[in-house]
Amino acid sequence: MLALKNVQVLYDRAIEAVRDVSLDVPPGTIVALLGSNGAGKSTILKAISGILEQEDGEIVSGGIHFDGEPLTKQSARAIIAKGLIQVPEGRQLFATLTVEENLLMGGFTRSRADCSEMIERIYTMFPRVKERRTQISGYLSGGEQQMLAIGRALMGRPRLLMLDEPSLGLAPQIVDTIFETVVGLNRDTGLTVLLVEQNAQLALQVASYGYIIENGRIVMDGAAEKLLANDDVQEFYLGFSGGERKSMRDVKHYKRRKRWLS
Ligand code: ATP
Repeated sequence: MLALKNVQVLYDRAIEAVRDVSLDVPPGTIVALLGSNGAGKSTILKAISGILEQEDGEIVSGGIHFDGEPLTKQSARAIIAKGLIQVPEGRQLFATLTVEENLLMGGFTRSRADCSEMIERIYTMFPRVKERRTQISGYLSGGEQQMLAIGRALMGRPRLLMLDEPSLGLAPQIVDTIFETVVGLNRDTGLTVLLVEQNAQLALQVASYGYIIENGRIVMDGAAEKLLANDDVQEFYLGFSGGERKSMRDVKHYKRRKRWLS
C-alpha cells in the first residue's frame, strides 16, 4: 500500500536526516518504525505527508508510492485527500478551539452529515473526549489531547493512519486505552497503521512487522515476534540482557560502542 524506496532527506540542503530508507506498509497491517531520539522517525513521516518543505527539508533521492502512485511531487493537501493522515508528535491541536471544533477541523474534506456520523463514532471510541466536547482543547490532559488528536485524524477517514509517538509522556493506563483503540480499528475496519515509537516493547506487541532506524538508516527489520525475541533488540530497546534488566545508562553506553551494520 505504502512503499518507500531508498529515500534520502536533507534539511537546509546540507543536513542528512534520512539515508537510503526503504520500507513497506501492506494494506490492513500495523507496521512499527522504532528508534531513539533524533533517529529520523518524524522526518520519514513528514516526507510521506509532504510537509518537509515547511522545515526546509527535501527528499533528494528515492521514491514514495501509495497504491503504486508517486507521492513525492504531491501537495500535503492532496496526500491527505488520498487518505494518508498523520497524528503528529505533540498532537498539535488547535489549542484555543473546543474539542468538537477540533474534530470538525479534521473533517474539513467531508460533508456535514459524514462529520456528524464520524463524531458520534469517535465519542463512542473515546468517552472521555465526549465528556470534554465543549471544553477548550488546550486545557485537556495529555491523554485526552492524544485521544482527540487521533479522533481528529479519524475525521478525515484515513486509509493509512500515521501515529508519531502516541505513548509519549502518557500514563500506562491511558497508553493502553489508546493502543487498544488503534488495534480495534485495525481489526474491525482494516485500517492500515504506521506506528512510530520509541517504546519498542509496546509497539512490537501490536505491530505485525517492525523497522529499526538509527542515525537515519534502517538497521534492522523483521516480523514483530522475531524482533521481540532478538538479543540485540532486547538489549538495546527493551532493556534486557541475559534475562536481567540493564540500567539505561549501561544500555546507552553499550549502544555507543556497538554498530549493528557496518
Ligand atoms: P524525535 O523522537 O526526537 O522526534 P526522530 O527520530 O523523530 O526523533 P527526527 O526529528 O526525524 O528524529 O530528526 C532526525 C535528524 O534530523 C536529527 O538529527 C534532527 O536533529 C534533524 N532535524 C530534524 N528536523 C530538522 C530541521 N527542521 N532542520 C534541521 N535538522 C532537523
